[in-house]
Amino acid sequence: MDDLPVRDELRGKSPYGAPQLDVPVRLNTNENPYPLPEPLVERIAERVREAARDLNRYPDRDAVELRTRLAEYLTRTGGHEVTLTNVWAANGSNEVIQQLLQTFGGPGRTAIGFEPSYSMHALIARGTGTGWISGPRRDDFTIDTEAAVAAVAEHAPDVVFITTPNNPTGNAVSADTVVSLYDAAQAAKPSVVVVDEAYVEFSHGESLLPLLAGRPHLVVSRTMSKAFGAAGLRLGYLAAHPAVVDAVQLVRLPYHLSAVTQATALAALEHTDTLLGYVERLKAERDRLVGELRALGYEVTESDANFVQFGRFADAHGTWRKILDRGVLVRDNGVPGWLRVTAGTPAENDAFLDAVRALKKEQD
Ligand code: PMP
Repeated sequence: MDDLPVRDELRGKSPYGAPQLDVPVRLNTNENPYPLPEPLVERIAERVREAARDLNRYPDRDAVELRTRLAEYLTRTGGHEVTLTNVWAANGSNEVIQQLLQTFGGPGRTAIGFEPSYSMHALIARGTGTGWISGPRRDDFTIDTEAAVAAVAEHAPDVVFITTPNNPTGNAVSADTVVSLYDAAQAAKPSVVVVDEAYVEFSHGESLLPLLAGRPHLVVSRTMSKAFGAAGLRLGYLAAHPAVVDAVQLVRLPYHLSAVTQATALAALEHTDTLLGYVERLKAERDRLVGELRALGYEVTESDANFVQFGRFADAHGTWRKILDRGVLVRDNGVPGWLRVTAGTPAENDAFLDAVRALKKEQD
């Protein structure tokens, strides 16, 4: 690759690469451990069969039925009414984020995130030629509103990312902090503020969707990869002022959401209540992991997500390897001293807890 005339900002860089290893217990990419229920699998097959009869034609470019159903889901669960015109969908929220950066970022523009946070925000910024600014967090991984507002005022970014619940740390950001950052971002420059709520269904608190009222530059991004247990589907979506939805049309590829994707997502949305039932189980398992890890003497960051950040380790990567040697894959996100474990099934979590218990014994 070194011999290729790739863009300067891509030289020497590594692609996103969470290890996909074949081990008995995989708790490293915040997936939902429960396979889709059989009646839903049947419904997907039915919907896809219908869609297949029309595959000689391009799909609905505007995904109207799907966006309408997503708007209904958000209205029902998010505490704020949205309609088709407020909602946009793409292949995973990564593509939603890419479209937002292509529209509101790009060469000569900047985006800020408060790190450690979701690493793809910075990577997609780079891919779209958007300058990246690493904003601050406290040592306990909460956002110091004053310091964050000062960073926004100083850099006047074009796009502000706020991930809540945050990945990889798990903690949520308060509505007050989001409002302060939104106001600061508008005062510095009319910028777009993206609230990444990929994990919000697992939160103890509420969605920040109601903040959309009266804030035309606010965007809430969501995904079906986590709570809906459909990471393989690749379906992300956003809610925002209709003008934002119109603006992203300028960069989306024509027919970007395949008819198969739309049919599958529609089937999954018909089974929302069953899927959200798994979320309740995972929240209980997440809370169990927090409690048991603390009881073992580990430090644990407060979690509103389907994963838990735990530490501290003098050699986090060495510990990651030792846990892997016991058949459990967790994630080393590169946060010094910390590792992250996704809440799995009770049996998977037991296997993980057995592994870390054994490690503790070794150290004592
Ligand atoms: N946002 C956050 C905070 C995430 O952690 C992830 C996935 N790990 C995504 C967005 C992207 O998810 P997807 O593209 O599967 O929707």
